[in-house]
Amino acid sequence: MANPLRSSDVRPLRAARSLRVSAQAPEHVVIVEPLTPELRRLVPSAGDAGWATVERYGGRPVKVCATGDDLARLTATARGAAWTYGAVFTASHPATLAAGPEPCALGQAAECAYDPELHTGPDAPESPEQESARVAVARQVCETCPVRALCLPYALASAPADGVWAGYTADELAALARPALAS
Ligand code: SF4
Repeated sequence: MANPLRSSDVRPLRAARSLRVSAQAPEHVVIVEPLTPELRRLVPSAGDAGWATVERYGGRPVKVCATGDDLARLTATARGAAWTYGAVFTASHPATLAAGPEPCALGQAAECAYDPELHTGPDAPESPEQESARVAVARQVCETCPVRALCLPYALASAPADGVWAGYTADELAALARPALAS
């Protein structure tokens, strides 16, 4: 049976990246995204609880979905679920959160949504100079983004492997998160 969640609001670019990650070893992928009416139909209890864990096994994705205004906490929950189930955790970049019919506060005002590739990177290879220039412009966009305060805790909870989130690269976010983890 086809996975009905594939038609949800993860943009194709992000979905493709998630699947590339899953092909490296793991059986499952965890994706965090706003809870859509479609997902709410699939998980009837999700409306009241505000969040839902939708599990699909047998090589299919595990999705943890949120209504969106507490994405950092829910993302931490998703990472825990991923660890528990031996899954790969993949959070959606804020640039992709605006695509759903019920985008969260972060997705609704994310400046990066106007040009997602500026923050997530192009599909085609780029030279170090091109990447450096793109990242510099992405950081500038983040500096004036009205939801940067919401974005940073989400970015830290997401521990992304790439992209510019809240003005930081993946390596910079990992370095920022390290003292918090150690305390
Ligand atoms: S702070 Fe940057 S990454 Fe976060 S939502 Fe705004 S533009 Fe996007």
